[in-house]
Amino acid sequence: MEKQVTLATEVTYSGIGLHSGKDVTMTLQPGKPGTGIVFVRTDLPGQPEIHARAELVTSTLKATTLSENGAQVFTVEHLLGALFAMGVDNCRIRMDAPEPPVTDGSGLVFAQLVQKAGRKEQEAEKKIYVVDKSFSVYDGDKFLIMLPYDGTRVSFTSVNVHPLLGTQYYDVLLDEETFLKEIAPARTIGFMHEVEQMRKMGLGLGGNLENALVYDDTKCLSVPRFPDELVRHKILDVLGDMSLIGPWKGHIIAVKSGHSYNSQLAKQIIAYREGK
Ligand SMILES: [Zn+2]
Repeated sequence: MEKQVTLATEVTYSGIGLHSGKDVTMTLQPGKPGTGIVFVRTDLPGQPEIHARAELVTSTLKATTLSENGAQVFTVEHLLGALFAMGVDNCRIRMDAPEPPVTDGSGLVFAQLVQKAGRKEQEAEKKIYVVDKSFSVYDGDKFLIMLPYDGTRVSFTSVNVHPLLGTQYYDVLLDEETFLKEIAPARTIGFMHEVEQMRKMGLGLGGNLENALVYDDTKCLSVPRFPDELVRHKILDVLGDMSLIGPWKGHIIAVKSGHSYNSQLAKQIIAYREGK
C-alpha cells in the first residue's frame, strides 16, 4: 500500500505573481491526511480556503484559476504540477495574495522547496486513480486524450507558427528524476507582440526575460534552457491542471492543447468517477 505524503516541515518563499505582478509571501505547510492541496488566502477576512480540485476551476485564460468561498487563486498550475510530481498529497498553501510567486517561471523552485521542507509519509492510503477507460476532448485538429497505462506518462505535440518554435514533441514517463531534469526547469513562453495586449488585460505584469521565454517576431530574447522548452513547459501545465483530479496513473496524449482542454478532461474524469 502506497501511503499519503505531506511535507515534513513548513517552508516560505516570497516573490511576485506572473500575471498580477503583486508581491506575495507563500508558506507551504504540512496538511492532514485526506485533506489534499488547500490554498489559504491569508490577506482576506476569515482567511478563506480554496481546494485544488478540478470542479473549482473557473477560468483557464492564460493560467488556471480556482474559486471557492468567494475567493480566488490563479496561475497555480506550476506549483500544483511540482507538488504532484514530487508526490505530495496533502499541503496547505498560505498566500497573502491571489497568485503564487512566479519564481523563475518554471516548476523547479517549487520542487526544490518540497525538497528543502522534506517529505513525510502519513498513516493513510494514497488513493491513486488508475485510469480504467479512455477520455478525450476534441476540437478540430486539437485534442487531449487520457488512456489506461501502467505509469504516469505525458506525450505532447505542440505546433507554433513562430519560425523558431514550429512543431515540438516531448514524451515523459514521470518520476521524480525525470521531472526534475526534463520538465520542472521549463519556463512559460511569451511573445513581444502579445505583451501590450496582455498588459492592458492586467496579464503578464510580473513577467520578464528571465522568468519567461520571450520571443519577438524573429528571435528569442531570453536564454533558452532547452531547445524544446515550450513543449516541456506545456507538459508541466498538464501535470498541474490534471493534478486537480488527485494522483493518477494513465497516459495523456496531447496535440496542440492548453489549459481549457486540461480542465475539460479533468471535469470529465471527475464526472465519470462520481457516476460509478
Ligand atoms: Zn505554464
